[in-house]
Amino acid sequence: MFHAQVLTLFPEFFDSPLACSIPKRAIEAGIVCVERIQIRDFATDRHRKVDDTPYGGGPGMVMKPEPVVAAIREARRRDADTRVVMLTPSGARFTQDKALEYVDGGHLTLLCGRYEGFDERIVDYVDEELSLGDYVLSGGEPAAMCVLDAVIRLLPGVLGSPESAVLDSFSEEGILDWPHYTRPEVFEGRRVPDVLLSGNHAAIEAWRRRESLRRSRARNDDDA
Ligand code: SAM
Repeated sequence: MFHAQVLTLFPEFFDSPLACSIPKRAIEAGIVCVERIQIRDFATDRHRKVDDTPYGGGPGMVMKPEPVVAAIREARRRDADTRVVMLTPSGARFTQDKALEYVDGGHLTLLCGRYEGFDERIVDYVDEELSLGDYVLSGGEPAAMCVLDAVIRLLPGVLGSPESAVLDSFSEEGILDWPHYTRPEVFEGRRVPDVLLSGNHAAIEAWRRRESLRRSRARNDDDA
């Protein structure tokens, strides 16, 4: 079983996404287990404070090292093999290859920030820093949920058809999925490409390959 842990101030954030569709089925089938650890439980002062004002001044609050590091230690105590990943816009970009790497690892702890982010010294206690992309979310929870979802669908036995994950975008480095069509044949004047109705499997495969490459090139040109 893949063992995931999430360190968060909002454990309830994960209730709904983990109770739907593929993640729900994977949990029920015992393929993955997602434990949530409330960081605030590790605050030691009377007010259970997890944040404080930044040294040097400026807006916002910073997550304090003591409760966060205590929560990381608890995650490592529960699972000595876990890899602790801090969600932060300054981290390395999350990719499909990264998701596959996490699947192979089998043990993952996702550390979610809030406010202005973490006291910088916390970085010394994690294994890596990970970003979902070049934009700022209000907390690490939506980022952690995306990582969990991408990992869960890759776990053996999760998808109805094991081929699906292999054929998804990025399964081959940098290559996007081909366009998909279903019934009706004509929708508001837009026709399904003839080749897909031809029954000629070799021609369909060639068309899909061409379309994948065309889309991938177009995306690369947009990114350049
Ligand atoms: N002041 C920080 C900055 O500008 O880099 C942003 C902090 S953000 C409001 C609060 C938390 O959301 C972060 O500590 C991090 O855990 C999470 N977060 C925000 N954007 C993220 C992203 N692109 N990838 C991963 N985590 C993100």
